[in-house]
Parts: sequence; structure tokens; C-alpha cells
Amino acid sequence: MHLTARSEVVYAPAIRHGKDDMSESQYGRADLGSLHVEARSPLPTRHGSFEVYVFRYDDEPEKEHLAIVSGNLRGASDVPLRIHSECLTSEVLGSLKCDCREQLEFALGYIAKQSPGVVLYLRQEGRGIGLTNKIRAYALQSQGVDTVDANRQLGLPDDSRRYESAAAMLEHLGVRSVRLLTNNPEKVAALRSLGVAVRGQVPVLIEPNIHSRGYLRTKVVRMNHSLPQVAGAYTDAE
Ligand SMILES: [Zn+2]
Repeated sequence: MHLTARSEVVYAPAIRHGKDDMSESQYGRADLGSLHVEARSPLPTRHGSFEVYVFRYDDEPEKEHLAIVSGNLRGASDVPLRIHSECLTSEVLGSLKCDCREQLEFALGYIAKQSPGVVLYLRQEGRGIGLTNKIRAYALQSQGVDTVDANRQLGLPDDSRRYESAAAMLEHLGVRSVRLLTNNPEKVAALRSLGVAVRGQVPVLIEPNIHSRGYLRTKVVRMNHSLPQVAGAYTDAE
């Protein structure tokens, strides 16, 4: 075994602050669980050199979440942050049904250039429904059902991602405030509700391909994402 059996508890449950305490440096208002650093190492990548952390969060003990860090985050403000949920089908298999791989690569490149910054890679495949359910939903989509209705036919929520672990990781890394790389206003709201000081939003605009266009259009029309390059495609296609 190259990993130690005991990991270090780095973040104990937070102190609750009053609702009116909006100070930018504290993530403590949310009731966050304990976080453990399982491993940490430098990681050279095609996008730049990072420090990679493996975290385990008590509320999701089966998941190994990652932080891919560029530069020194401790005490830093307005840090570029991507919170990216695992997408095996696009990132490993090269699926064209979504743009997750392109968004991840954009974020790693952006953050390497705008250092310090961080990508938090959360192991919540398929917007949190898991790989099996995601592939079941793809089967329905291949028969013409859109991503939202496919989930509903399977009795699953539209989006079951959670961000408590991300808030705890940011606290551990000493980040004071962030600029979030996202097109999803609900992600900004979810982080703020956990006490993360989101001071700006950086759009991640990936040109749709023939397979991803329908999915991205659904994100705009049914999931409130802001994707101007897809809005145009929507008008053209309709
Ligand atoms: Zn994806």
C-alpha cells in the first residue's frame, strides 16, 4: 500500500454564523462535514503544472474528489474556479453528446494561465445520477426524448449534484473568494447558499457539434443555462 491507512482530518464541521454575516472569507455558514486529504502530489499536464489533491468528504465516503490547483491559493481573492462534475463518457470515451471534456480542458488551460486558480473535480457522474442511470437515460434519448424528460421517465431528478464537498475543499485550500467558470446561474446560487463568496462568473463557451446541439439547447430552454452560441443555433434549427 502506498497510501496511508489513516488520512488527516483537515476540516472539522464548521461553526454556524448568523445569516447577516456575509464576510467574504468565511465558508462557515453552511453546515459542512469533515474533509480528509487522502493524497497530494505535483501533476504536470498538457495544460500546465498543478498540485493535485485527493479529498474524501464524510457525507460521500465512497467518492474520491479532486482539487487540481495552480499556484498558491491561501488567502487569495477572486480566484478562478471551475467546479466540474465527472463525465466519463465525454472525458474518457470522447462522446460528442455533451461538451464536458471541452469545458474541463478550457478550465484547466484558463486556470494555468490565470494562476492561482483551481478546478474541483467532483465524482458525480451524470449530474449526480451515476453512470448506469446516465446510460439508461442516453438509451431513452436515442429514441428522441430530451435529457430532462429522460431523467423524469426514469424517476430521477433533473440535477442531483451537491456542492458541500466543494465548499469544504475551498475552505481547506484557504480561498477567500472566487470567480466561477460556468454558464449555470444555479451553480452560482448553490455555492453562495453554502457560504462561498462568488464575486464573478466567467462564461465557458464551447461551440456545439451536431450531436451536442440538442443537449445544449435543452440546457438553455429547460435548465436556465446561459449559452448565447446555442441560442443562435436554436433559432436557426427551429
Ligand atoms: Zn458530459
